Amino acid sequence: MAQEKTSIFGLLGFPVKHSFSPAMHNAAFKYLKINARYGLFEKKPQELEDFLNSLARQNICGLNVTIPYKERVLDFVELDKESFYLREIRAVNTIVVEGGILKGFNTDIPGFSKHLKEQIDPLNKKTAILGAGGAGRAVAYVLASSKAKEIAIYDIDRKKSQGVVDLIKKVFLNFNIEAVGRIEDLNIKEKDLLVNATPIGMEKTDPYLVTEEMLYKDLFVYDLIYNPPQTKLLALAKKVGAKTSNGLGMLLYQGVLSFGHFTGVDAPVEIMRQALTKELEKCRKF
Ligand code: NAP
Repeated sequence: MAQEKTSIFGLLGFPVKHSFSPAMHNAAFKYLKINARYGLFEKKPQELEDFLNSLARQNICGLNVTIPYKERVLDFVELDKESFYLREIRAVNTIVVEGGILKGFNTDIPGFSKHLKEQIDPLNKKTAILGAGGAGRAVAYVLASSKAKEIAIYDIDRKKSQGVVDLIKKVFLNFNIEAVGRIEDLNIKEKDLLVNATPIGMEKTDPYLVTEEMLYKDLFVYDLIYNPPQTKLLALAKKVGAKTSNGLGMLLYQGVLSFGHFTGVDAPVEIMRQALTKELEKCRKF
């Protein structure tokens, strides 16, 4: 009897070497006895188009997409009605190959939303975001759609933070969002929630993003970084008595939602969580 072909899934990006996604998805496939494998596809920008055009031929059934391609893949995917706002957000992180067509989704947005809301309800909250890249756009979308009271956003590149303001105002008319030119102008002490969506904190040598004086005990600080589990920002926030969260739960939930798109079945959340935790123990940075 001919053996059923193994379905291939994977993470597309450049670079993708230290991703936790293979461990998380492969643990779920194994647990559910699904004949599938999740690998890494590190592609240079000039290889992207050929690669995306060859997915069906290579029996690649689905992809997650990471830096720097979340925006570029929009040119290759179809979006259904519910996902149409992704043209504005300019970020697709999940692709499903269906009959030769590539369908695009974003699971970072509901993944962040679910994990954040397990800890704090953004409704009517005064919020601040550091970083206006793909993740910053997703965070701003979640906070605005959850009816936060206001957002102040800071990025070292003022054009990028202004871009997020323009995008949010286009999708959520009259939403109270402003881009500030200096981190001090975020007025974090008047906010309820601070989200770090910059990569600053991933390396031991990274500087502190804020000073201790900018933080206070009634603030909730969410850092999208999950490795290390406690960044300098989170350590400082804890020191002043603030509540904190790292981004491991967001990583888990975006993976769980992608797995659902890939397979059409419910993901084994606890199995995926255990796989992630194990992986983190193995390659904990500091
Ligand atoms: P990105 O597109 O590179 O955006 C990061 C933005 O932050 C850039 O605009 C960058 O500006 C800016 N920035 C850098 N240093 C800054 C500073 N000191 N102050 C203010 N802004 C600064 O990256 P991304 O895809 O949005 O990801 C951001 C972080 O979120 C990464 O650490 C990523 O691993 C994490 N993330 C986590 C999850 C999760 O599941 N937990 C999901 C997505 C992303 P320049 O480009 O000029 O440097």
